Amino acid sequence: MPEGDTIFRIAATMRRTLGDDPIVHARGRPGGAQLERLVGCRVLRVTPQGKHLLIDFEGGLTLHTHLGMLGSWHRYRPGERWRRPADEAVAVLETGRAVAVCFAAPTVELMETRAVRLHPGLAELGPDLLDPTTDLELVARRLAGDGRSVAEALLDQRLVAGVGNVYRNEALAACRLDPFEPAAEVGVERLTALLATTASILRSNVGQPVRSTVPGARAGERWVYRRAGRPCRRCGTLIRSASVGRPPRTLYWCPRCQAPGPRSAA
Ligand SMILES: [Zn+2]
Repeated sequence: MPEGDTIFRIAATMRRTLGDDPIVHARGRPGGAQLERLVGCRVLRVTPQGKHLLIDFEGGLTLHTHLGMLGSWHRYRPGERWRRPADEAVAVLETGRAVAVCFAAPTVELMETRAVRLHPGLAELGPDLLDPTTDLELVARRLAGDGRSVAEALLDQRLVAGVGNVYRNEALAACRLDPFEPAAEVGVERLTALLATTASILRSNVGQPVRSTVPGARAGERWVYRRAGRPCRRCGTLIRSASVGRPPRTLYWCPRCQAPGPRSAA
């Protein structure tokens, strides 16, 4: 599932793929966004915003995509065979030198660039954890003001954008935090450290073919995510899992390393 690190990498790839060349062909899915309006326009900027991708064009139009669970962007040379069926394409942008194709994304919309800041799904987005200018302590204060558990708060894109279920679970495990502890009780100091760890895990995975979260371990190794019933890498206790929140998402944790209550960090 695409999280902030994936969108960050896609944005960089899209900048290179589309470059400064005008769009010569564009289409959305039948009955969907009228991407034909982009023909003749050049890309001004590509911005990852949490799990959303915004492509601003000359002429004041912005293409907004969200990949959901199954969406992806591919790049091809003109005439090259696509790796997914053409009827799954929901956005096609072609220049004289390259073709960018978005498959199976649930959100594809073309809007006026000046309307982006009023867009309900985007205007509500919290600071992007991969943006180096994001003030982590400020975000930590927002999380601490939330009435839910730290695990639920960390996944709320309105509080902080870019964290999905894999990195939420892994960051909590890396920081040895009880996922069920109320964010307010975790406190600003430990929340700031949690956000710094989450950002560092996200950043280290930008451009990597598999997600790795355990320092020094093999590529693809994880602390807890999808490891229910297997031994904790630190203490050997079996990893537990539970479905939590609305909509429900699976939490994974070590009941010993991430035990409730105060404990010394190690
Ligand atoms: Zn453990």
